Amino acid sequence: MVNVVVAGAGIVGVSSAIWLQRAGHIVTLVDRMEDRTRTSFGNAGVLAAGALIPVSVPGLLKKVPKMLFNKNEPLFLQWAHLPRLLPFLLKYLSFARIDHVQHYAKNMAYLLGDSHEQHQSLAAGTGAEGFISNDDYCFGYATNGSFIADSWTRDLRRMHGFVVEELDGATYAERDPMYYNQFAKVACYKNHGRISDPGAYLASLITHFQAEGGQVIAASIEDIDIHESQCRALITDQGKISGDHIILAMGAWSGGIAKKLGIKKIALESERGYHIELHEPNMMPKAPMMVAAGKFVITPMKGRIRCAGVVEFASADAPAKNAPIALVKRQVKALFPELKYEHMTEWMGRRPATTDSLPVIGAATTCDNAHIAFGHQHVGLTGGPKTGRLIADMVNKKPGNADLLAFHPARYQ
Ligand SMILES: Cc1cc2nc3c(=O)[nH]c(=O)nc-3n(C[C@H](O)[C@H](O)[C@H](O)COP(=O)(O)OP(=O)(O)OC[C@H]3O[C@@H](n4cnc5c(N)ncnc54)[C@H](O)[C@@H]3O)c2cc1C
Repeated sequence: MVNVVVAGAGIVGVSSAIWLQRAGHIVTLVDRMEDRTRTSFGNAGVLAAGALIPVSVPGLLKKVPKMLFNKNEPLFLQWAHLPRLLPFLLKYLSFARIDHVQHYAKNMAYLLGDSHEQHQSLAAGTGAEGFISNDDYCFGYATNGSFIADSWTRDLRRMHGFVVEELDGATYAERDPMYYNQFAKVACYKNHGRISDPGAYLASLITHFQAEGGQVIAASIEDIDIHESQCRALITDQGKISGDHIILAMGAWSGGIAKKLGIKKIALESERGYHIELHEPNMMPKAPMMVAAGKFVITPMKGRIRCAGVVEFASADAPAKNAPIALVKRQVKALFPELKYEHMTEWMGRRPATTDSLPVIGAATTCDNAHIAFGHQHVGLTGGPKTGRLIADMVNKKPGNADLLAFHPARYQ
C-alpha cells in the first residue's frame, strides 16, 4: 500500500483514483474543483467504443483551408494563436496517413472497445450506475454521397468487430420520429453506450471515492517537485502535496508538468469544442446522433438535449468565441424547425489532443514513481475508466497481456 496523489479529477483522474483505492492504496485527488471547467463535464456523453478514426485522416490537409474560411464548416482557428500552434498543427497533420490511421484504430480498439463494461465495473457499487445506458451510436448523413464517401470508416470499424446497421433515413425515422426527414442515410453502431449526465456522473463517482476514505483537495497545481528521479510532491497554491506515487491526469492542462516528466517533444494541445443545451424540450431523441456534416452529436440527457462538438484550435485559456456556438445553433434550428425549449445554456471545453491522436498512458521517463494519463482527445469519456484501470495495474506492477507501447510516454521523449 502506498500514498498516491492523482493530479486532475476529470474522468481519467477519477477512474485512476477509484481503481487505485480499490487496490488498497491511500489516494488523494487534487483538482481546482471547478465543475464546468472540466472537459469531462460538458462532453456529448457518448461511449464511443467504435471511435477508431482520428480527426487527422488522409485528405484533411487539402480540406483545411476551405474549412477555415467557411463559417458553416466545423473547424475554427483563433488566428492570433497560429504562430504558437503551428509546430503542433504541422506535426498533427503529418499523421494524416493511412498507415497511422490503421495503427490508431488497432490500439484504440483495445482501449475503447469494451467501454460500456468498463464504465459498469467502475460505477458498480458507487451509486453512479444509473447514469449508464447501452444505446446505439448513430451517424446521420444528409446525402447518399456523403454516406458513401464515409464507407471506409464503417469498413475499418467492422474489421475490428463492430456491428454497423445501415438504414435509409425513412427507416430510421420509424424508430425515432424526431428524425423524420433530416437524413438520407443513417449508420448505427450497435451496443455502444451513453452517460445521461456526464457532470453528475463524475460528481457521483467523486462522492463515492470520498465516502470510501479518499481525500479530495481543492487546489491549483503549479508545478511538481522532483529530486533525484523521485517525484516528491505537487506544488500547489495550497502548499506542497506529497505522495509516494504521482499520477498526472490534468487533461488539456497537462503539458507543463508533462515536460518535467519527460515529454520533451511537442505533444499536447487543447482542441476545443462547444455544446448548447436545450432545456425542457418539446421532443427528445432516443439515442445519440452524430450529425456527420456538422461534426456534432445530439444526445438525450436528463431534462435536456445536448448538442456537442465542432473543433476549434486556440489555447486552453483563450476565451470562448461566438462563431462555433453560432454554427451549432444554426444547424440545430435547420434540422428541427419545430423544436421548442424553455431555455438554452452554452459551454466550451478543451479536449486534450496529442499530435498522433493517441493518449499518453504509462510510466514517466524522468521519475521512477510517476505515471502519466492524458491526451484522450475526443474519446476520454469512453476510454477514461479503462485508462484508470491500466494505471492502477501499472502502479501495482501487475503486468497485463496487452501491448501498450503505442500509448507509452517514451514516444514523446
Ligand atoms: C464538445 C465535446 C464533446 C465530447 N464528447 C465526447 C463523447 O461523447 N465521448 C467521449 O468519450 N469523449 C468526448 N469528449 C472528450 C472528453 O470529454 C475528454 O477526452 C475527457 O473529458 C478528458 O478527460 P480528462 O480527465 O483527461 O480531462 P478533464 O475532464 O479536462 O479533467 C482534467 C482535470 O484537471 C484539472 N486541472 C487542470 N489543470 C489544473 C491545475 N493547474 N490545477 C488543478 N487542477 C487542474 C481540471 O480542473 C480538470 O478537472 C468531448 C469533448 C468535447 C470538448
